[in-house]
Formats: sequence, structure tokens, C-alpha cells
Amino acid sequence: MWRWLYNQPRVLETLYDVTQRALEPLRRWLKPGGVVEKTFIVAEEVGKGVLFHCQMCGQCVLHSTGMTCPMNCPKTLRNGPCGGVRANGHCEIKPEMRCVWVEAWERSRQMPAYGDEILLVLPPVNRRLQNTSAWLNELTGVAQQNPAGWIGVNEIPVRR
Ligand code: SF4
Repeated sequence: MWRWLYNQPRVLETLYDVTQRALEPLRRWLKPGGVVEKTFIVAEEVGKGVLFHCQMCGQCVLHSTGMTCPMNCPKTLRNGPCGGVRANGHCEIKPEMRCVWVEAWERSRQMPAYGDEILLVLPPVNRRLQNTSAWLNELTGVAQQNPAGWIGVNEIPVRR
């Protein structure tokens, strides 16, 4: 069942949307730390762990990466593939594994709502958020705090 669900990026982006909307009203009460964060962490470890092999980076970008976790790339690249993708679309480090970014691109093409976010340049991941709750970080604004000097590209480029 999990495999089936993983292979439905369109359903997954809808679930992402529903989760966002469900948690939004709780925003003002949520604070990092304590029992609440522990509960969120367990929920993410179990739920996103089973579905996406979530590595608990604490700054989730699934909806911008074809509902494919970029932290499973052996080089943990957040902005597309390295130059070593094999001709068959597999990883140069782990030849038995499909390149995370080949999958991310293919899956993003099945996502009408968020699919084109894959064209955005994502900020570097904040390693200090490792093993914290990405949902909580998103809702409290911690996830949006980018490094000083970061100039993001926050408009989706027009495709020709
Ligand atoms: S992007 Fe981060 S939080 Fe999201 S699934 Fe991957 S490791 Fe987990």
C-alpha cells in the first residue's frame, strides 16, 4: 500500500495541501521543543519515514521536489542532479539506485499544483535543524529563515 501511495505524486500533493491546511489554525499555539515537538517528530519519523525514507532534515521541501526526498541523494543535493547520473538514470555512487533527481523530475510532471516548484532554486539546508520537526519548523517560520546573503529565485521561470 505504501508503495502504491508513493507512486501517486498527485495524491501526495493533495495530502500535503490537506495537512498544511489542517495544521494552519494551530500555528499560533505551536512552539519548538517540549512534548508537542516530540509528538510531531515521531509522527514524521513514522509517516514520512515509511513513505519517503525521510532523513529528518527539519526543512521539508518535498512539494518542491516531486514529492521525492532529496536527502536520499548520496550527495544530499537539494537543487538537481550532479554530473554523474548514469545513462540509465541511475546514481553514480549507488548504481543500483535510480537518481533521486531523475525520479523527482518525472514525479513533478504528474503534480498539477506544485510540480513547477521544481524549477525554483532552493536555499541550502540548515544542518542545525537536523532531527527536528519540519512541520513545526514550517509553521513557526524557522524553516523560512535562510542564511544571510542568500538571494533566492522565488519566481518560477517561464518554460520555453
Ligand atoms: S526533505 Fe527533509 S523533512 Fe522532507 S522528507 Fe526529506 S529529509 Fe524529510
